Amino acid sequence: MSKISQTNLRIPGPTPVTPEILNEMSRFMINHRGDEFRSLIESVTARLKTIYQTNQDLYILTASGTGAMETAIVNTLSPGDSVLAITIGAFGDRFANIAETYGANVEILRSKLGEPADPDKVKAHLNSNPNIKAVLVTHNETSTGVTNDLKSIAKIVKDDFGKLLLVDGVSSVGSIPLETDSWKCDAVASASQKGWMAPPGLAFLSFSLEAWKANAYSNMPRFYFDLREYKKYMEIGQPPWTPNLSLFFALDKTLDLMLDEGVANIHTRHTETAQKFRDGVQELGLELLAKPECASDTITSVVLPEGIKVQEFLRLAKLDHNVEMAGGQQSLASKIFRIGHLGLVTDEEISQTLSAIKSSLEKLQ
Ligand code: PMP
Repeated sequence: MSKISQTNLRIPGPTPVTPEILNEMSRFMINHRGDEFRSLIESVTARLKTIYQTNQDLYILTASGTGAMETAIVNTLSPGDSVLAITIGAFGDRFANIAETYGANVEILRSKLGEPADPDKVKAHLNSNPNIKAVLVTHNETSTGVTNDLKSIAKIVKDDFGKLLLVDGVSSVGSIPLETDSWKCDAVASASQKGWMAPPGLAFLSFSLEAWKANAYSNMPRFYFDLREYKKYMEIGQPPWTPNLSLFFALDKTLDLMLDEGVANIHTRHTETAQKFRDGVQELGLELLAKPECASDTITSVVLPEGIKVQEFLRLAKLDHNVEMAGGQQSLASKIFRIGHLGLVTDEEISQTLSAIKSSLEKLQ
């Protein structure tokens, strides 16, 4: 039998899930078309909306975050629509790819890896391309550990140009500030395995009135992710398809924990934890990929010292210290490693991670 051990899981999701939350998943199944589930989905949705800071619609999908991103696109756009995809890394590229796959005419505004999008460039692009219908943007780019200035980007996209704004908030909502309604985000995607402290398998999508207006004209093909079905069924307190009940039970618990702590306190805790990692890594003489003003409070990317092979480094940290971190993606694959610090992170896990980094690097140098 394989050994089940609690790894110090410092990847950017799934995040560690406490035994208290895991226990919730051993609850007996219930009828997802019955009264008990109706009160569960209504209460979970209401609490998600509080954390999303939205009074508009929000749907829970049995899918991963990519499913919520796809849902945002196929429910608002039509093949041939012009879309601006602001990409600062692998997940921005994925958002663009989904839109392209469904036939949108995608224009890409790309930043150098490790840098955020420049709001002035977004403005200039929208100025010279008046036919753009929607803008896709990643709030927090997990592949580089960079947070975009979503508030400024949203102001331009919504106030200056009145375009639809579809946001990948997978690794941001519930961890760092994202004010869905006051920033006028039309759709914001997230997923249970990130700051929500639950296992993977549920995805969330807020959907504004503007997004519903676009939906009336949108004809991209969709079935499982057809939000009209979700809307119709939500009126009777059900999802259209069988939900992952066990994850709803887990989320029921984690949302209570989150609201007890308070949204502002959660954000402060993430900032403090991130700062401890950034300070600790720099004290080891290592360089951070992102500049302080755009460094993510949920993921830290660290430049690997010359000559160190990322896979060997990660293997040692896991083998000798039970600390599991992530490598880079795309062209950063061999250049950086990433530390995930969304959800719950204890001070002991921070110091264990930092000493794993120190001693694994010393061994390899
Ligand atoms: N966007 C971002 C910013 C992410 O961090 C992730 C997951 N790492 C995704 C999208 C994709 O989510 P999932 O793997 O849950 O489909």
